[in-house]
Amino acid sequence: MIYSDFFDKKISLLGFGAMRLPLLPDGKTIDKGAVEEMVDYAIKRGVNYFDTAFPYHGGMSEIVMGEVLSKYKREDFYLASKYPGHQIAEKYDPADIFEKQLKKCGVEYFDFYLLHNIYELSYEVYTDPKWGILPYFLEQKKRGKIKHLGFSCHGRPDNLKAFLDYANGAMEFCQIQLNYLDWTLQNAKSKYELLHFYGVPVWVMEPLRGGKLAKANVDSPVESAFRFLMGKEDVKVILSGMSDLKQMKENVEIFSSRRPLTPAEEQKLLLAAEGMKNSLPCTACRYCVDGCPMGLDIPNLIATCNDVRYAKEGGLTASMQMEALPPEKHPSACIGCGACARVCPQKIDIPKALKELCDTLPDLPQWSKICKKRAEEAKMLEEKNKEKKP
Ligand code: SF4
Ligand code: SF4
Repeated sequence: MIYSDFFDKKISLLGFGAMRLPLLPDGKTIDKGAVEEMVDYAIKRGVNYFDTAFPYHGGMSEIVMGEVLSKYKREDFYLASKYPGHQIAEKYDPADIFEKQLKKCGVEYFDFYLLHNIYELSYEVYTDPKWGILPYFLEQKKRGKIKHLGFSCHGRPDNLKAFLDYANGAMEFCQIQLNYLDWTLQNAKSKYELLHFYGVPVWVMEPLRGGKLAKANVDSPVESAFRFLMGKEDVKVILSGMSDLKQMKENVEIFSSRRPLTPAEEQKLLLAAEGMKNSLPCTACRYCVDGCPMGLDIPNLIATCNDVRYAKEGGLTASMQMEALPPEKHPSACIGCGACARVCPQKIDIPKALKELCDTLPDLPQWSKICKKRAEEAKMLEEKNKEKKP
């Protein structure tokens, strides 16, 4: 197993992400026996990093991982979990959630603890002094309940930068979506470079983009994707959301030695990624922005359009980007005047691209979930208001 040095710790470069655990035939319940087998195999071969979170598997991931890991000595594994400030709630009580998490996992402390999913919409929650989120977790670190504090981020680079500035050096690591496709598709390269500038080590999520890169038409697709990341020296942990023992065995084998891609191999892979994207060639020059009568953030909408073109199923990041926009900045606000397209040096038919984005959004399961949740919340609010009326 390859290890990364992090303060006084040696962390396995391969981490076990517990968000896609094996399920029983009912398709809902975690197959604890299968998880035990996977964890046992992993620990015997040197994997020591296990990553769960409050909402994974409807809250059951923390419980199952805690139970499975309880048979090992506490110092033989590192457990990470996350505070769900990105989930819409009426109040955000860090103490209540954190104490529950320790109980669910059956541990006295977390080795690694993350503020889950900083992005455009959750940024306000995480930085609002009313909830006191960062001060609370810094206090838990002082008490030894958290050994290392960090955050995960699905936001754009400017959002990432804003949070790093807000945290003022308190973040010891940052987890981002990083793989050879998102290196350019989701600006992961810029985020990686930004974190390097701030001296914050990188934890990787979605190294295979939810398994899609495992089926990519390149040589040894899984191995190539991991070897791409092995060449990035700030990457300390690569999380893989493994769902069966076969995947675990393959991954453990790949991580038995560090073999980063050669520059020629990396170029070939990045070229293959370009072919996968079917992208609109926006360079983010922003020439189109000033003349838009609706004040739309066109380059970012085009970036989302590109993301959706690739990730038709799921579309988690694209859905979050859309969710963070007020209705008047949504692509549906475009009136099709064409002022933007006339000045676009890349000759992109911007109104057509924005219409395509609007038309595709309802097909994204993640976006449908958000819409359903919003509709339920609106209904609940309406009913509450009715009750208040005499
Ligand atoms: S076509 Fe749409 S995006 Fe382009 S300038 Fe007009 S309103 Fe803005
Ligand atoms: S003018 Fe064209 S290339 Fe420039 S930001 Fe707008 S859409 Fe992108």
